[in-house]
Amino acid sequence: MPMNTAKKSGKTEAGQPVAARNRVKILFPLPLLKPYDYLAPVDGIVPGAFVIAPFGPRKVYGVIWPGEFDDAASGKLKSIEKICDAPPLTPDLIDFIEWTAGYTMFPLGSVLRMVMRSGDMVEKPTMQTGYVRADASPSRLTPQREAVLKVAGIDPKTEAKTAAVLAEAAGVSDAVVRGLAKVGALAPVELDPDQPFGAPDLKRPGRKLSEEQIYAADILKQKVQTGGHTTTLIDGVTGSGKTEVYLEAVAAALARDPTAQIVILIPEIALTLPFLERVEERFGAAPAPWHSELTSAQRRRTWRRVAQGQARLVVGARSALFLPFQNLQLIIVDEEHDGAYKQEDGVIYHARDLAVARGSRGGFPVVLASATPSLETVINVDEGRYDAVGLPSRVAGASMPEIFLVDMRARPSERGKWLSPVLIDAVNKNLSVSEQSMLFLNRRGYAPLTLCRRCGHKMTAPGSDTMLVEHRFENRLVCHHTGFSMKKPSACPSCKAVDSLAPCGPGVERIEEEARARWPDASISVLSSDTAPTPRSMRDILDAMHDGAIDILIATQVAAKGHHFPNLTLVGVVDADLGLSGGDLRAGERTYQLLSQVAGRAGRATKPGRVLLQTYQPKAAVLAALESGDRNAFLAAEAEGRRAFSFPPYGRLAAIILRAQDEAALMKAANDLRQAAPNGDGVEVLGPARAPIYRLRGEARMRFLIKARRDVNLQSYLADWLGRVKTPSAVRRVVDINPYSFL
Ligand code: ADP
Repeated sequence: MPMNTAKKSGKTEAGQPVAARNRVKILFPLPLLKPYDYLAPVDGIVPGAFVIAPFGPRKVYGVIWPGEFDDAASGKLKSIEKICDAPPLTPDLIDFIEWTAGYTMFPLGSVLRMVMRSGDMVEKPTMQTGYVRADASPSRLTPQREAVLKVAGIDPKTEAKTAAVLAEAAGVSDAVVRGLAKVGALAPVELDPDQPFGAPDLKRPGRKLSEEQIYAADILKQKVQTGGHTTTLIDGVTGSGKTEVYLEAVAAALARDPTAQIVILIPEIALTLPFLERVEERFGAAPAPWHSELTSAQRRRTWRRVAQGQARLVVGARSALFLPFQNLQLIIVDEEHDGAYKQEDGVIYHARDLAVARGSRGGFPVVLASATPSLETVINVDEGRYDAVGLPSRVAGASMPEIFLVDMRARPSERGKWLSPVLIDAVNKNLSVSEQSMLFLNRRGYAPLTLCRRCGHKMTAPGSDTMLVEHRFENRLVCHHTGFSMKKPSACPSCKAVDSLAPCGPGVERIEEEARARWPDASISVLSSDTAPTPRSMRDILDAMHDGAIDILIATQVAAKGHHFPNLTLVGVVDADLGLSGGDLRAGERTYQLLSQVAGRAGRATKPGRVLLQTYQPKAAVLAALESGDRNAFLAAEAEGRRAFSFPPYGRLAAIILRAQDEAALMKAANDLRQAAPNGDGVEVLGPARAPIYRLRGEARMRFLIKARRDVNLQSYLADWLGRVKTPSAVRRVVDINPYSFL
């Protein structure tokens, strides 16, 4: 693509006339609203190219950006330092960055930062030395040397391995490898540490699909073959084999265009390892992973190989949407309803919505998959914007689990305990027939609240209105919002009474305590982000569960989704009411989704599953819908509720959050902002109001909620409004378009 044609004129600092073609715009990955004009040392640098240029006192990585030049700036233009040797960002990614900045109302440079967090991804890494077998054979062939030659490859392009890798494979020391190189039996070659990803094998057959799966897969394959943008929901019950179905669409897209790239988004890091293996099994090569737990070397490998177009299939978290694809042709969003797709830090966005926008702008298909699709998606299907394919039954003849409510008012647990006799009986029965049980409680730690029995003081994080959660195993009190933690004090910090701090309510550790006391001979494990902080440790517990080595798994939501445990036949939800309290507009929907997902872990293979939901509100609409299995009636009622209040998707919503250490400055800024709000047809401004978590990390927080009719351009209303007031630097202002969190 040619460089943008510039307007004439401009002079360098040295007074040299500047040819118009030597001007470029550069966007830096910093919170900047726009790109800046620079001089280029050579002609013809394309938009998207990575460069280094001076910005203030520093030299910064940036990207050549399309756009009109700013003539006023032409007299004092600085020059680009360096043009980097990396493939440029494509026009469709530049377009997507621009669109995302406009939609989310975050600075353009902040969105670019999601594409290139740091410059070192752009730079070629230091090459390593690899070795391949050479012609010369060593005069002295020890068994160690023989072992190395056996594992060494021949092709310098694809088979070179470092001394360390060869030595480990041969079970010898590095010195043996170096010795062979010295005598010429191994030849050194330059080796890129970012090894290419294996090419997917498209001849490899997938699983034998059921008729239902074949029908759904054919529809998706058709969409891929036809090309162009469509969004299709795979609406399939838990265990219906949705993954195998969309992997057929992936295979079709890979086959249709030999340079096509595809990304599969998954919501939970805990799912990545097993998921990567599953995809590898299907295509004979591991896909490129992308998530926050990767090492910096792993990140660089995926980023560079994606940028080169070499990595064709990426499996990742929401931020994988911002990888520098050369030819993105298909996006799959698995578990599309999942709240983890909403990014709440930095640029606030919803990856499912952005995925659809990316596909729509890039002209390629997007596939959403879920057993409990979001109301937004269901309504998009109903109104004809999205297509849907259904998978109403489980694969291989497995039946859906039966769901029962346990009314805790009628069958309460013992005092200070949390499991009702009904659930205890069910676990006993399962233990007696060697089937597995899961006790689900979506609360980490031992107790969610620590209270002084004498003065009533609640333990909160310093400078925050957030409760400290006791983690008894580590003997610490932890804030799940701020990450603050402290050793549990022996005396109340307020009244100084000794041994008066009491845990209130249960977390998974407390359920574990109860379970161990009740079933001392059972094999019991806890699965939460605390007991399994890394994907590997998570994997160990999941494997043990899969292989039947665990009788009772006590788990938070990390175990709720995606996993397949063939011998799990009982799921007990300790507190089914948990998500309903303090409700925001999606509380009911979220509870329905989470409990359906967790229920969906039961009875996925040959034995039927049972689910017991402990509740104090058996009449609540969500619980009644779960018990009767009437999803559509539940969704219809939810939709009516949203329509009555013009909440999304029947209306638009945005939040503005102001925060500051100085409360007086915060109140003034909030009131000034309120005063400046323009009258907008179909727009209602609510607030400012104290945020439910008013104090967080030493700052006070105020919120506005802006409701608008669906036909209103909310972003342009907000831009007009926010452009009228200058918020003082002591007050931070953030816009959240279509908020999911109201805290
Ligand atoms: P979902 O995502 O719909 O809950 P999965 O795609 O995880 O379901 O599939 C559930 C289980 O069934 C997995 O272990 C998967 O490997 C297996 N499976 C999927 N399709 C088939 C099939 N056609 N035949 C046999 N097993 C299958």
